[in-house]
Formats: sequence, C-alpha cells, structure tokens
Amino acid sequence: MDYLMFCDHCGMPKPIGEYIMREYFWIASHVYCNNCNKPNKIPEHLQQLSLQMRKGCKGTNE
Ligand SMILES: [Zn+2]
Repeated sequence: MDYLMFCDHCGMPKPIGEYIMREYFWIASHVYCNNCNKPNKIPEHLQQLSLQMRKGCKGTNE
C-alpha cells in the first residue's frame, strides 16, 4: 500500500511506496516535492511507522 504526503508549498500529493517508506523514511528528515522540488518535513508518525516496518522485516524478538 502506498502512503500519501501533501506538499506544504504547492499542495501536490506525493505517493510514498512501501519500499521507500521502509528503506528511506527512518533516516531521512525531508522528502522533496515532485512538482516544486521544495523539501517537506517527514511527519514523526511516518518515521515511527518506517522504523516499525524495518523491525517487522528483521523479525526481532523484542
Ligand atoms: Zn510542492
């Protein structure tokens, strides 16, 4: 499933694929808009979700 982020600057929706979410969001602080190329801060709840997805992949026993 893809997640949607809306650009703070131009309002353009940006679909975020599951792979990007898992591999990138937990270390990144911003994503760039496809339309206006301005940085948008990644919301904390999406970073938390990204971390959870990574944990899920590795199958930790915590
Ligand atoms: Zn934009």
